[in-house]
Amino acid sequence: MQPLDALIREAGAWADRPAPAPAALAPDDEAEVARMLQICNACRYCEGFCAVFPAMTRRLEFGKADVHYLANLCHNCGACLHACQYAPPHEFAVNIPRAMARVRVRTYQDYAWPRAFGALYARNGLTLAVALAFGLALFLALALALRGTLWQASPGGDFDAVFPHTLMVAVFTPVFLAAVLALGLGIRGFWRDQAVGPAAAPAAAEAARAVATLKYLDGGHGQGCNNADDAFTLARRRFHQSTFYGFLLCFLSTSVATIEADLMGWKAPYAYTSLVPLLGIAGGIALVVGTVGLWRLNLQRDPMQGAVAQQAMDRGFIALLFLIATSGLLLAALRATASMPLLLAVHLGAVIAFFVTLPYGKFAHGPFRAAALLKWAVERRQPSNLLIDDESTA
Ligand code: SF4
Ligand code: SF4
Repeated sequence: MQPLDALIREAGAWADRPAPAPAALAPDDEAEVARMLQICNACRYCEGFCAVFPAMTRRLEFGKADVHYLANLCHNCGACLHACQYAPPHEFAVNIPRAMARVRVRTYQDYAWPRAFGALYARNGLTLAVALAFGLALFLALALALRGTLWQASPGGDFDAVFPHTLMVAVFTPVFLAAVLALGLGIRGFWRDQAVGPAAAPAAAEAARAVATLKYLDGGHGQGCNNADDAFTLARRRFHQSTFYGFLLCFLSTSVATIEADLMGWKAPYAYTSLVPLLGIAGGIALVVGTVGLWRLNLQRDPMQGAVAQQAMDRGFIALLFLIATSGLLLAALRATASMPLLLAVHLGAVIAFFVTLPYGKFAHGPFRAAALLKWAVERRQPSNLLIDDESTA
């Protein structure tokens, strides 16, 4: 264990060094992360906070692939900013959460498929607004064309009376498959550049557990993230989990409805006690709770923790999920009233906007972070090339 003044001298020496390998790190955001990680590698105060720091200590230099890997491993919990003795106004200006957030958007842009669509991340608020306007216009126009009105009750609240099931399958299936393909190809490119070895079952299980529990939003000590200030809170982890599982339940509800309709011929309207509405209503409530909580935390967040330019993407994504959830819950509650065609058109317009923008917006952080967690689970089982005693492999 080195004395503190020796660590500070070493960190100062690292800070004075030029960023490494400039040819491999042309964009400023990546070079800035590499500069800060050189300081962190000498300091190592935050080693127990999350997976980023033990992964960092396995490296002496930080090339492009390393920087993107570590940036996506970061959950932006803020702990290493509030604990850092070299954070602004210190001249080293170490702000890992902000620097990592900037690089993550570069990851999404660089690995977007088709590549040109990566530009949509730069104006993501506008992208979401245009997609939502398109989705709402499409389904409002379709409802008027098929039904002649947006305000008329259907016996039993039958959604098929407004939009036939075959039409919904024809519209949503290609959009959903295109979104999955684009996102999948992006993740494949990221994974290929990371040159990870094969992922054995224990590593895959560990990564899945870290995703399912949002392990690294616990601050490393179990008390949670820093949000507005130095105080720890588990609220961000809880609201993320509510949003995550709410989304999964809603997706499951839609999948069950599709299977029931296509394989068994069971179609809406469903009894409130059947599986489709039960899953959908539970998921919708969880999504509303999660998105309202995340919105509130986002407004209270210390601006030092994130990149201001990304606020539109973050808030637009939360708002779109909230619109999907509230319109879905209202639809379930008011399906037998004259408002059903209008509510259904609004709900489906928001859902299609979500799928159209899925590979080019905030949703991408989930799959890229899961890939980084899988790499960490694989890597920590391998011996370190640096031959440094590495407790993380224990
Ligand atoms: S963030 Fe600051 S305190 Fe933490 S390891 Fe880096 S330099 Fe040290
Ligand atoms: S912000 Fe949190 S998750 Fe990201 S590097 Fe710092 S401590 Fe780790």
